[in-house]
Amino acid sequence: MNSVIQVMQANLGFAIYMPYVLLCCAFLIAYFFRQGRIAMISVALLASYWLIQHTLSEPADQHLSLIKLSLFALLLPVACWQIYLFKNETIWHPGFLAFLLSLGLIIGWASLLISDFDNVIMTYFIEFLSSTQVTSSPLPIILAAYIAILTLYAGILVYSHNRLSDVVIYSTLLVVGSAFTRFDVPFISSTMFSLIAVLMMIYLISTSYKMAFTDTLTQLPARQALEIDLRQLGKKYTLAMVDIDHFKSFNDTYGHDAGDDVLRLIASRLALIKGNGRVYRYGGEEFLILFKGKETEQCSPLLEQVRNDIAGYPLVLRNYTKRPSDNTQGRQYRHSRYKQDCLSLTVSIGISDSLQGDSVTEILDNADKALYSAKSSGRNCIKHYSPQ
Ligand code: GH3
Ligand code: MG
Ligand code: MG
Repeated sequence: MNSVIQVMQANLGFAIYMPYVLLCCAFLIAYFFRQGRIAMISVALLASYWLIQHTLSEPADQHLSLIKLSLFALLLPVACWQIYLFKNETIWHPGFLAFLLSLGLIIGWASLLISDFDNVIMTYFIEFLSSTQVTSSPLPIILAAYIAILTLYAGILVYSHNRLSDVVIYSTLLVVGSAFTRFDVPFISSTMFSLIAVLMMIYLISTSYKMAFTDTLTQLPARQALEIDLRQLGKKYTLAMVDIDHFKSFNDTYGHDAGDDVLRLIASRLALIKGNGRVYRYGGEEFLILFKGKETEQCSPLLEQVRNDIAGYPLVLRNYTKRPSDNTQGRQYRHSRYKQDCLSLTVSIGISDSLQGDSVTEILDNADKALYSAKSSGRNCIKHYSPQ
């Protein structure tokens, strides 16, 4: 922190205005990526930083400073958590306006309190806050504990849901909370508000990058990720094309939602493939597995293992309402060992490796031909490409 203070002192204007610039950048990125909730947090942070600079930076009455700092510590988490009252839409949604109104109300309420701070109730309140102050921090310990509990709760949400908004709230409470607890350190608010703005930008960009390259249904890498990976292959590699058998009639029998559940389940079983195989959703009910540095013979037993695993896996359907009234339609999927609602599906696989062609397109085409041959050999099997 001492080095940060030295840098800040040497570049005073830069230090004071940096959070504004960075928070505006975070707001713009959130706007372009349609993350309305993150845009809301950046506005709340911009407003807080502006208010801190204009009301708390110059030395004032000790009691007044205490009540102001306490109000910041109390209300900034409220301003952050209230984003969950609104939908994560663009900033042109009425929800964003409602957020701005609510933020305005919070600030208005706080300024009303401060404007009349020497009344009896406020005197008691200030006395109470002073009594919970410790020498190491200007922030009353009760408010430090309040921020710590909310940060912990946000941390639990990150752990259980891992949504972008949870991560941003968690980081904001952690970073801004530590700024409030060490408010006596020079330039702490400029440093911490700049830090949180940078973190927000990193989260926004990495989440959008992940969304662009991940299939939303199965959470596997999407075709865009495959196309990039196929451009960076070494000399030796194997491609396996996997296709679910009779999936169209499964959808027709059990409904599209049950089909989606099954796609997710099969994707999760395929992802267990050993030998560093990377699984992609190629499109529809087709998947592609890429093994770098391996030939067909090395990959074949690994694929056989996964094919067997899927064929033997009992599928228990969650959504029965979509099932047709004519129960005979679903009979072909019924696994004799299981009760009526336990089904099983199979996959067919075609494999080809880099020794069987000159370009990736050719190897992909070979794997597709091998898959076609697996389908015509009765399905639920693996076929290697063999040039005729
Ligand atoms: P085959 O054994 O020859 O592969 O037969 P099939 O019925 O699996 O093949 P076909 O290509 O005729 O049908 C593919 C079906 O996959 C069509 C479509 O209903 C289904 N499908 C593709 N993408 C999705 C999806 O995202 N969700 C669901 N539920 N179904 C999908
Ligand atoms: Mg298909
Ligand atoms: Mg199919």
